[in-house]
This record gives sequence, C-alpha cells and structure tokens, in this order.
Amino acid sequence: MLSASVISCNSKKGEVVIPSDKAVEAQVEQVLKGMTLEEKAGQMVQLSIMVLQDETNEALDPAKLDKIIGQYKVGSILNVMNDHAHSREHTAQMVKDIQAKSMETIGIPCIYGLDMIHGASYLTDGSLYPQEINLAATFNRTYARMMGHAMAYETRAAQVPWVFSPVMDLGRDPRWPRIWESFGEDPFLQAEMAREETKALQGDDPNHIGLENVAVSIKHFMGYGVPASGKDRTPAIIAPNDLREKFFAPFLECFRAGALTAMVNSASINGIPTHANAILLSGWVKEELGWDGLFVTDWADIDNLYTRDHVAANKHEAVKMGINAGIDMIMDPYDPECCNVIIDLVNSGEISQKRLDDAVRRVLRLKIRLGLFENPTWDREYTEFATPAFARESYDAAVESEVLLKNVDGILPLKGTERILVTGPNANSLRALNGGWSYRWQGAADEFAPQYNTIKEALEKRFPGKVSYEPGVVYDETPMLWEKEDASGIQKAVMAAYKADVIVACVGENSYCETPGNMDDLNLSANQKQLVKALAATGKPIVLILNEGRPRLIGDIEPLAKAVVDVMLPSNYGGDALAALLSGDENFSGKLPFTYSKHINALHTYDYKVSEHRETMEGSYNYDAVMDVQWPFGFGLSYTQFAYSNLKVSASEFGADDVLKVSVDVTNTGSVAGKEAVLVYSSDLVASLIPDVKRLRAFEKISLNPGQTQTVTFEIPASRLAFVGADGKWRLEEGDFRISCGGLGVMTKCTQTKVWETPNI
Ligand code: BGC
Repeated sequence: MLSASVISCNSKKGEVVIPSDKAVEAQVEQVLKGMTLEEKAGQMVQLSIMVLQDETNEALDPAKLDKIIGQYKVGSILNVMNDHAHSREHTAQMVKDIQAKSMETIGIPCIYGLDMIHGASYLTDGSLYPQEINLAATFNRTYARMMGHAMAYETRAAQVPWVFSPVMDLGRDPRWPRIWESFGEDPFLQAEMAREETKALQGDDPNHIGLENVAVSIKHFMGYGVPASGKDRTPAIIAPNDLREKFFAPFLECFRAGALTAMVNSASINGIPTHANAILLSGWVKEELGWDGLFVTDWADIDNLYTRDHVAANKHEAVKMGINAGIDMIMDPYDPECCNVIIDLVNSGEISQKRLDDAVRRVLRLKIRLGLFENPTWDREYTEFATPAFARESYDAAVESEVLLKNVDGILPLKGTERILVTGPNANSLRALNGGWSYRWQGAADEFAPQYNTIKEALEKRFPGKVSYEPGVVYDETPMLWEKEDASGIQKAVMAAYKADVIVACVGENSYCETPGNMDDLNLSANQKQLVKALAATGKPIVLILNEGRPRLIGDIEPLAKAVVDVMLPSNYGGDALAALLSGDENFSGKLPFTYSKHINALHTYDYKVSEHRETMEGSYNYDAVMDVQWPFGFGLSYTQFAYSNLKVSASEFGADDVLKVSVDVTNTGSVAGKEAVLVYSSDLVASLIPDVKRLRAFEKISLNPGQTQTVTFEIPASRLAFVGADGKWRLEEGDFRISCGGLGVMTKCTQTKVWETPNI
C-alpha cells in the first residue's frame, strides 16, 4: 500500500559485477595496441565450423582455414561439423588445428564455442544430463551444480573453453517450443538454478578460469520466452516493470555470479529488436552493472535486423546498429564478409574507434581470462571424462525430476506380477527422452547413443518376461519432422492390451528445437489421443507417461488414466529412472516447474494477478475467471505423504532491511522414505500495482524416513518481497503479507514503505 512516510535508498550504486584484474587488463592493453583494424574486426566475428569443412563434411579444409583465419582473421568459431556431435578426440584435434592456424597467422588464439545445453550434448562420448526443465523439477540446486561441473569438465577435455549455456528464458508460454531448455516459469527458481550452474561451469574466479572450467554464455538476453504468437523468434510484448522484476532476475543473478558472456534474444521486445536495444545491452548491463564481459549475437541475428525486422535497410546499417547498441561479437555463421563491413563502418566513422576498441577489449579479455594466450590448447589428462560417477548423477537427477501427477486405486507402484503392455510413440525412443540439442541440433540420441535404455527396454529389464510392446503410433524419424506420425498400429496395440493387466502408454512429442518446434495446436496430437481412447475402451488400467518438452493439453484423456507421470526430457537414463519409479525401487519427488494448463484459452502462470482469476468462484470478479488448470506449478505426488505444521514467521512486523525467518515442520506420515521439495510463497495483499496472487520466495529439498519430522528454516531478506512499481522503481510497501507453505499460511506486516533509487536491488 502506498504510504505517506516513504524512505528512499541509494545503496549499491556503481555496481561492478566482475572485479577488474590488473594483470588481465594490462595484457588486454598490450595485445590491443599491436592490432590492425583488420585484426580488430576479425576478433568481433564468429563463424560456424561449417564454413571450414572439407567436402567430406567431417574434416577441416586447409584452404578454407587459410581464408577464414589467415585472411579474414576471424576470432571465433562455433558448433559442429555436418550438424552432428563428434568424439572428444575428433573435436579436440579440430580445435587444435584451428588454434595452430590462429596463433601462426594472427598471434591471437581463436575461441571455440559449443551449444552444450544439458551436459556435453555435442560430444558422442560425453555425459548427458536431464534437460534444464527436468533439473528445475527436482527443486534441488545440487543437480544444477553437478551438471555444470560435468559439462565444463568434459567440454574442456575436448579443448573447447566456451559453452552457450545456461538457458534462463522464463518459460511462461507453454506454446513456445523452447521452454524445456530453461528452468521453467518462475523467476526465482530460474535464477537460483542458473546461478548454481553458472558458478559450477566457470568456477570461483571469473578472471582466471581453470582448465576444468569454461566460460558461460547466459542466454537469451532477454524476454525471449514469451512471444505473443507462441512461435519462436517472434515479437514479445512485456510490461516494463515485469521486464525488470521478472525477466531480468535470472540474468542479474548470473551477471552477479560472474557470467563472462551473454547471448542476445533473437527476437524483439515492445517493438525493439533486442540486438538493437542499446538501453538493455549497454544501459542495463554494461553501465548499470559495470559488466566488462561480452555480448554475442544469436545465429545470424544481425541480418534479421534488415531481412526480418525491417529496422535497418541493409547489412551495413544492421551491423552499425547492433555494434553501437552494445554487441561485441557477431555470430554471422556463414559469411566472413561481416569483417569488411565492420572495417568500412570504422573507416567512415559510423562506428567510433572507442566503441571498436571497447568491443575488442571485451573479446581479448575473455580469451585472457580463459588462459588461451598461454595455452591455446592444453595437454592434460581428463580421467573423470564420462565416468560412471557422472552417469550416476544423471540417473539420480532423472529420478528426482520425473513428476507423478496422478495415482489412483493404488495402481502404482506396479506389483511386479502384472503383464504390462508398453505402447505409444515415445515408448522406444531415446531421441524423445533426450529432446533437442542431443548429438544433433534437433536431437538424435537413437542414432548416436544406442547403448542407453528406452522406456520399453528399461521396463523389460526391470520386469523380465512381463512386458509386451506395440507402439500403436510411431514418429517419423527424419530430424525436422518431429510432428509426423503413423497411426496405423492403433488396432494392434488395442489387441495387445486385451492380453495385458496394465497399459503403460508413453505419449508426448518427438524431439525438436527452436523454430522447427513451432506448432498450431497445444493439444496432444489427435493420433495419440485416439490411441489412449482406444486403449481405455478395453477397460484395462492405463498409466499415462508424458514425455514432452512442453505441457501438451490432455484434458480429455487424463480422466481415462489411473496414473499420470510427466517425465519431460530426462535424457539417457530417463527410461531406467522411470522403471525404478514405476516399480517402487525409487520414490517420486519431482514437482512441476510450470503450470500444466487444461484449456487452450486459459494458459496461465501460477503468479497471475489477483484480479485475473480466483481459486474459487467466491469473490470472483469475472464469472468464468476461476483458475482451472490440469496441475498447478509446484504440484507432484509421492508414494508417501508429507504433513506440514507449525508454519512460523520470526516477526509479526518487519522493515525493508530485515531478514524474515520462516520455519515449518514437515513430517513423513507414510510408510516409505521420500524426498520433499518445500516451497515458500509470499502474497502482498494490497499494493500500488495489482499484486501477483503469490510468488515463490524460497525452496529446499529434504529427505525424510517414515515417521520422521524435520523443521525446515528459511531466511528471506525482506527486499525479496519488493516489486517494481509503475515508475520503474523497486518498492516494498507498507501493509500485510501472507507467507504460505504446504497449504499453511501466516500473516506478517511490513511497517514502512521503501523505494530504491538504484535500478537493481
Ligand atoms: C540458438 C542459440 C544457439 C545458437 C548457436 C541459435 O539458433 O537460438 O540458442 O546457441 O543458435 O547454435
């Protein structure tokens, strides 16, 4: 509530998120002063490895190397030859050859970058972990750290020092085809997990990245995840206060954790293409945060400024616009001519010498921080590479991430005596378990990693002699045809169902990535719904397994299932994890990191406005505005039950500089051990902007044996309850707050309004 007595605060002015290192800066200056304009322009350009491939598409072409590195002096290369992963050895040799050329001809090391998105996703022999959406479902920060460590270690082992990860686009529109790449819809959850991953990837000292760490490129800065159309790379409309308060939050957290580079949102916000948005790139990040890192464009996005967005008339204008807005490196995948455009623009004064040198300093600083001048490549053993320890972590993360959404009539865990029909297009597919960015951009695990178990194979191993298989519906396996299905096997599956005691129906999506994943209907495909309906008509109980990158609507078939599990994209050990969970060898503990919507015209997030919907009709302003979702954010069942009691907040009144101590007792009242994600929310009851109904403010994952009680305590700085007001300023307003956890709620009161004058708190 707005109050007459308002205090104003100016703390944290002049923030510098990465401390400057004298030796690093001295080296930057020393290298810079010997550089020609041609060399400087080359350092600002990044090309795809595809331009260096020979005619086999699997090796480097020396003539192309001469041209791109020798002549154009290009400073960075990305991604994989022939659009598929190669072994560590192959990748390492390729990078060594590029580095040799770069050192010989320019005397400056090249920086190679890879899309390692859920482990070493572009190495055939690396370790993959569940996708970020699954890690979010564990509500366990440990897994973000584990994946970050393994990803850094294995990427370095392949002589690559830079990953385009972690992804922190808020997945707040289930139609968008990339929400599975991120940690879900909530800013706090996203920020916490992304920070842990960033720290694990880079290590503790951003000025000296060790040989088991890599530089991150946090992405996609920012507001990329909510295109108004639901289609990838299309415009977003975001309220200015939401942009600062919610969308910026995970980026801010990672910049403060030392993130060295950031990749820019391919699309636009409120009419401004992000690649041309000087306010965001130079203003919010470089100036407000004193950030001395590097902004790299996304794929060919400078071209999109004139070919797609029509804010520039030609390439010259587009390059000028992007660089002057704050872009430091242009990912212009196919064409080194961009180097000449930069040279022209500097010669004509359209890009100042100052801006040029600033961008080049940022590139050099990154390379120096990574130790590439001393060690363009490194001879070192990486004995932990793809060891069983990483595999075990991946399995454990999968177990904690698969979410039990429904379980009636004691159908789960399976007894082991049932004859099981395994069916559905996702039953025997590693590609579907992994999703995109797995060995190929569009995903291709069956082709490259056949040694892992699909759901069908894992169930056959766990229940020998009990499993029969009829897919019913099959996907076309052509990489770009993820939506194409053949439903001619439905009748066969139905016949097999009559001979079974229980049906495990594995439905969802095949793998896809980015714009090829766009679609027009969020409903689960008609073929798959038809399969489930036909199976249900047999009267046999159905365990519905959802293996999908986004919550496809299933309102009409959910009632036909006795149990529902959303495994999302649990990767190579996801089938084993599911078999262990369905059999009761392991217990479920995942919770949804997004709202699972029910109706196509009612796509919600959990933090909707109080005036938007109600949980019940009572007090509802709009007669049909009752919240009706399939499953809410944070929902997930277990084979045991947890009772919450004794929720307390340390003080009945607090000021803006206080820390709220919240505690709650959680008891395992069931008969098996289990893990529970304890989630704490706050609700601001009256505010000067319509308040969100609730916001996640803290979480912790605990383990409890049957009968055991644990008091879980949280420390929540009062400033975390602040919001960005209509004037763009952070404010915490006097008035009542409800703190809720596990179905309990307690009231507390903020005693004085505080407004921060700094852009970030
Ligand atoms: C994607 C990025 C990715 C880049 C490089 C783009 O199309 O949007 O997420 O890092 O390609 O492969």
